[in-house]
Formats: sequence, C-alpha cells, structure tokens
Amino acid sequence: MKSDYLYAGKILWVDLTQGKVWTTPTAAYTGRFLGGKGIGVRIVWEKSGLPSIDPLGPDNALSFNTGPLTGTMMPGSGRCNVSSKSPLTGLLGVSSFRGSFAPELKYAGYDHLVITGQAKEPVYMAIDNEKVTIRSAADIWGLDTYETPKALRKELKDEEIKWACIGPAGEKVIRFATIIGELRDSARQTGLGAVMGSKKLKAVTVHGTGGLHVARPERFYEVCARTLEALKVSNPDKTISIQRYRQDEGRQKTTCFSCPTRCEEEYETSAIRDGVVYYKWYAEMANKIGVRDMTIWRELALCINKYGYDAGSLGDITAWVTELFEQGIIDEKDVGFPLARGNSEAYLRLAKIIARREGFGDILAEGLMRAARSIGRGSEKYTILTYAGDSEEVTQRSAQFYGHFAEVIAGIQLAFPMEDAGKAKMIAEAEDAIGRAEIIGGCKWHTEFNGLPLTSDVHAEVLSVGLGKEITANELSVYQQRVRQLERAFNCREGLRREHDTLPAQYFTDLAPDGHFGGITMDRSNFEVMKDRYYKLRGWDLTTGVPTRATLESLDLKDVADDLEKRNVN
Ligand code: SF4
Repeated sequence: MKSDYLYAGKILWVDLTQGKVWTTPTAAYTGRFLGGKGIGVRIVWEKSGLPSIDPLGPDNALSFNTGPLTGTMMPGSGRCNVSSKSPLTGLLGVSSFRGSFAPELKYAGYDHLVITGQAKEPVYMAIDNEKVTIRSAADIWGLDTYETPKALRKELKDEEIKWACIGPAGEKVIRFATIIGELRDSARQTGLGAVMGSKKLKAVTVHGTGGLHVARPERFYEVCARTLEALKVSNPDKTISIQRYRQDEGRQKTTCFSCPTRCEEEYETSAIRDGVVYYKWYAEMANKIGVRDMTIWRELALCINKYGYDAGSLGDITAWVTELFEQGIIDEKDVGFPLARGNSEAYLRLAKIIARREGFGDILAEGLMRAARSIGRGSEKYTILTYAGDSEEVTQRSAQFYGHFAEVIAGIQLAFPMEDAGKAKMIAEAEDAIGRAEIIGGCKWHTEFNGLPLTSDVHAEVLSVGLGKEITANELSVYQQRVRQLERAFNCREGLRREHDTLPAQYFTDLAPDGHFGGITMDRSNFEVMKDRYYKLRGWDLTTGVPTRATLESLDLKDVADDLEKRNVN
C-alpha cells in the first residue's frame, strides 16, 4: 500500500555501538506490510530473527512502531507498538503503550524508530525533528521512571517532549522490565525494557512539529467524526453505572492522544505521597497475594511503576514463591525473610530486591520459568497454582511463558470448559481484530474484539480516504493474516512447535482446588482437537504447527517459506 499520505515517510535507524543514525524510506516495507506491528515484526524478522541472536545482545533490534493512522484524528490513534526478540521467552516480543509518544514520532518525521547495538556507557536519545542526538545518561541512570522525565525536561529545557524510558528494573536487565511512557503506561509484556537496558539506553525523547497529509481531508474528517460519535455512545462514562458514581480518593481517568474512551483509571493520593498508579495492578499483583489494604496496594503499584517492571509477571512470581514457602520447598534462608499471604511489608521488600537483583531477588529477576529451573526441588510444579485461583488474570498471564498460541488459547473462554464448537474460530477472529488495529496504528480496545464499533469495514474506509487508495476490508484482512503468519514463522524458526502450544500440566489435573473454577480441569484430548481446528483455520501443519508453504505463498510470503525450508523448519 504505497502512498505518500498518512505516513511520515521515513524509518529512523540507530546503531548504538557505532553511534550512527540514518534514515530509509518507509515505502520499502509498505508494499506488503501496512505499518505498526506489521512493519515492526518484519524488521525484527530480518534483524533479530535467528536463533543465534541473543535478545540481550547488540544484534537484537528494538523497534518503536507507528501505523498509518497514528497521529491522525481517528480515535485511538495514539498507541505506540514496540517489537523485539523477547529476553523472557526467546520468541517474538511485542507490546505497546498508551499516550502521545507515537504521534509525536510521526510529527518529527518518522514512522518507526529501530535501535540496534549497545552503547558503552548509559545514553539517551533526543529526537527533535531532523536533529537526532545520542547523549550521555550518566546523570539520569539510576533514576526511577518518575524522576527521569523531570530530569530530561530540565536538561533539554523543553517541557513539550514526549518520552519513553526504563526504570532501575530495565537498567538491571530484569527479564520482565517494561518501557514506560508519559501516561505511566508501559509496554509491559515480554521484557522489552530489559532489551532497552541491555543496550544501555535509558530513554528516548521526541519533539516533533511537522504534520501529516491526508488524501481526502473532508471525507477523512467525516469518518473520524462518525467514529467518535459511535465510540461516545459505547463509552461507559456515558452510561449509568456504579463505576461512574464511585468516588475514590484522587481517582481519575486518563486517555491517549485522540481518544474519547479514557479507558484507564489512575489514583493520585496523599497516602502514597508521590505520583499516580493504575488500578489494574490490583488484579495483576495485589489480588494474587492477598493484599487487601488499599494503601499498601498503592505502595506496591507505585513501586512497580517507578522501578519499571511488569505487574503481571511480578504477581505470578510472588504468588508462586509464596506457595513454595508454604509447601516448604524454600524457606527464610533462601529468601532472607519470611513470606506469608497478606504480609504486605514482605511483598514490598520482595518487589524491591527483585528490582535491585539483590540476593534471592537476583534469581527471581530472571523470570518465572528460569527461576523455577534455578531453584529446582520440584518448584516448577507450582508455577501455575496461585492464591487467586479464580482470577482470569492468573491463567492468562502465567500462560505467557508458554508461547503466543498458548497465551491465546489460555484465554478464559477457551481454556475452561464450555461449549467447544466455534471456540477456535472465535479465538482466530479476536486475534485478527486485535492484529488489524495493531498494524494500522489503531487501538484494539475499539474493535469488535471488545464489543466496540471499529470493524474492518470502518478501518478500511478510513484508510481508503486517508491514503487516497481504495482498500477493502478483505484486503485489510490479508495484510493482517500476513503479519500473523510472519509472527508464527518467527517463533517456529526459534524452535516453537505444536508440542509447545500447550498449558501447564495442572490445567489438565488440578488447576484450581477451590474458588470460582474449583474442581474444573481441561480434557487433554479435547484441547488437542481444538488445536487442530485452530491450526486448520490458520493454515499450519497439523503435526508440527509450522505455517505451510502453501499458506505462506498465498500471502505473498514466499521468501519466508524459503527461509524456513533452508533452515529445515517444517
Ligand atoms: S481505548 Fe484506552 S488504550 Fe485505547 S486509545 Fe483509548 S485511552 Fe488509549
């Protein structure tokens, strides 16, 4: 989809080893990949996709990705996608964060920012339109994610900069460290903050003053305005609900660039003295370890935000370590202090020693599966059972360690017994709706995946009038399918096969002894049948799970099929 409209037109490349900066035309990629995660995955496939490449080594590429809609008035066009090879899984790592960083990158003139190499000393990048500098981060290395932007604004004498940074957890290369942006939201899955830390890159700042060109501005405006109205009708803030009237201390909603939905709640409260925290950390962290005290929860959430690591991974690890403690597999001599559910002080201490890689924290900083291997003593058996056995989050987050398909298939609708018919199709369609938003610079929460009205027809219409070239919903779907197959090819090239698309053994035996899902288990043969159905829908080999040549060639990915064949990936 080559077009001069909607795109900034350039990809900004940075080699931190050489200290080199250069640009190439985005159009080199837009023939087969529209943008956003699509081009981001393709870049990582080309630069980091070989099993020999260490995710924490200089050859791994870290790509910040915008899409054709990013920075326009289309609602939800503010998210920044990030892709790299994950130091947590060794597979493709993709995540995104909210805010205005991505639009600003486009206004500065760049559709993607790709970072390779490793600086000798800590640095940060300052992008001011065409002027791109790599600067010493000696004075900000060690600062948390609240202090860092203040220091950057002061040093650059620019209050308008948008930024993305890592905290001390990223600096210490904690394998589930995050990249945080100005809304305190983070690209939190798959350890992308550790990739940034391994490159000794503390932050990226952007200031852009350019604009974007739209092919048919009046029609574009009309589609965007119509979409905005449709989203407002769907906005929970417009409905009468208990949430709307609930008044917690300092509670407010935040939103990304150009979005009416304001989907996140944050708290600013004197009880935690400083900064804001997100409510969602409660489900992902405090709920799993029985922290019911809201003040302590906020302390924990603030710690997660300031150090910059993933609340879900931290919650899984903390719950797992607590269980090991209860089972007598580890004790105070291992951890350095006792752990007990609800002991908030102990959990705060644990969170801090992980972020600093101190003592036992150094083992846990390697992530759940590596820590289980390191501890041994049968600890792997407990990597799924947690306190909150009735939490959806537990199953979804824990399954991330088992690969992309497992993460999806562990979605609550598929992993737990209910009517099987149609589940595989439902999962594929949900993935496609999310993926479509991610390749065009939209927000997945606005799509039919979340019951909101940004369908493929709406996306096709707005892209057509914006790009000045007709693109149908079917064509848009082909772009999405191409990226989905490339993701799978990447992971298969790294060794992922059908046998890895599974769940921890406890799903099939004793997932939850009590609680909402108490006594429920999955039937293994039924699970395999559902995998077959999903593989057929995706065009993957039923025996190996690798995309077939026919599937890849039908999506203009012959080069990918050739690469897999050359490496005996079949
Ligand atoms: S729905 Fe939420 S995440 Fe999506 S663009 Fe709006 S505020 Fe951002």
